[in-house]
Amino acid sequence: MSERTQVGIVGAGPAGLLLAHLLHRAGIESIVIETRTRAEVEGTIRAGVLEQGTVDMLTEAGVGERLHREAFFHRGVYLRFNGETHHIDMQELTGGKRVTVYAQHEVIKDLVKARLDAKGDVRFGVADVKLEGIDSSRPAIVFTQDGEAKRIECDFIAGCDGSHSMSRHSIPPGVLTRHDRVYPFGWFGISVEAPPSSDELIYASHDRGFALVSTRAPMLQRLYLQCDPNDKVGNWSDDRIWTELRKRLETKDGWVLEEGPIVQKIIVGMRSVVVEPMRHGRLFLAGDAAHVVPPTGAKGLNLAAADVRVLARAFDAFYRRGDEAGLEGYSATCLRRVWKGQRFSWWMTTMLHRADTDTSFDRKRQLAELDYLTTSRAAMTSLAENYVGLPFDDR
Ligand SMILES: Cc1cc2nc3c(=O)[nH]c(=O)nc-3n(C[C@H](O)[C@H](O)[C@H](O)COP(=O)(O)OP(=O)(O)OC[C@H]3O[C@@H](n4cnc5c(N)ncnc54)[C@H](O)[C@@H]3O)c2cc1C
Repeated sequence: MSERTQVGIVGAGPAGLLLAHLLHRAGIESIVIETRTRAEVEGTIRAGVLEQGTVDMLTEAGVGERLHREAFFHRGVYLRFNGETHHIDMQELTGGKRVTVYAQHEVIKDLVKARLDAKGDVRFGVADVKLEGIDSSRPAIVFTQDGEAKRIECDFIAGCDGSHSMSRHSIPPGVLTRHDRVYPFGWFGISVEAPPSSDELIYASHDRGFALVSTRAPMLQRLYLQCDPNDKVGNWSDDRIWTELRKRLETKDGWVLEEGPIVQKIIVGMRSVVVEPMRHGRLFLAGDAAHVVPPTGAKGLNLAAADVRVLARAFDAFYRRGDEAGLEGYSATCLRRVWKGQRFSWWMTTMLHRADTDTSFDRKRQLAELDYLTTSRAAMTSLAENYVGLPFDDR
């Protein structure tokens, strides 16, 4: 059976759901197609740090109520190296912008609820999703739902289907240029049932490698340590994890890491990817479908939100006034921000992690950079304005 909508959205991650919500507020119809179940989508623990602009966007879009009640609002972050901890007061350095810690799956729950409350059309658990006619004026999404073949004709399609993006792979060969860097390390992430060890995130650079202390909820902490990306979760007993974390996070001031039951263990590889352009015909790529960052700079979710902000405004101008300038400029507008996010994420990653090929020179250089960063107001300001989020170009 064939159906019709204005914007067909592939993927109910942060990019797809936020786009659907922004379009609804602009009076534009959409249908979201998602291969996972609602429970899977709402239960996947990923990012946790929101830029000020992302928080403002969610608030203005009417989905920030629970966020403002439950999120942790931090003035900045701590950088730890040589056993000493240095506070970067981002709120003071950026004239009031804060670091908001609110888990990605909570953002997802808020967006799913908003869509369903508004009788929005979100199809979870579909299969065999394919795109047709993205070069034509009548592109379509075809898929199977409850064993039944479906087809949705659209004016436009938004490919918000994450880093393995089927949408991106639907673009004919030779159209996209891919820029890629794979890092020789990964993150071993654990979720721990314990109170927070710190009032703000701690980024630690140690001779043994990087570690991060982060939080997701009052009794759920998220800790990471740099590992071999090809390592296996099974090689890491709880004892080995805590021993390694204690070493990498050691201080001279008696700080103690709060420990508790480990309820999740995961290894994440790290890469930087951008595909250009982010549009082909009537298909627009947004979020991880077009670009992936290593998580060190906490930019993945925020770049996804920034993309769909640009895209929603472009669709609004098109449907309201027939103005296609926003759609024409979509890729270039997003890519300016994406590349700045890539630069920042790469810089944070290479400053804080140790590669096997690093020499003593590289370590000394890293420590000099951290020393400079924590003693120069200009350097701290540069870190702060990137971390809390650069202003949107079109404000
Ligand atoms: C394990 C992990 C940890 C991370 N940690 C951090 C972090 O600490 N900080 C940070 O900033 N970023 C982090 N990120 C990155 C961040 O989570 C992403 O940048 C963000 O999720 C991007 O949102 P998105 O909507 O573009 O893509 P996604 O969140 O990936 O959503 C894409 C959706 O599309 C669906 N989908 C896929 N294929 C299809 C298809 N063919 N048809 C229909 N639906 C489809 C998927 O099921 C998914 O729900 C992490 C990512 C991963 C994988």
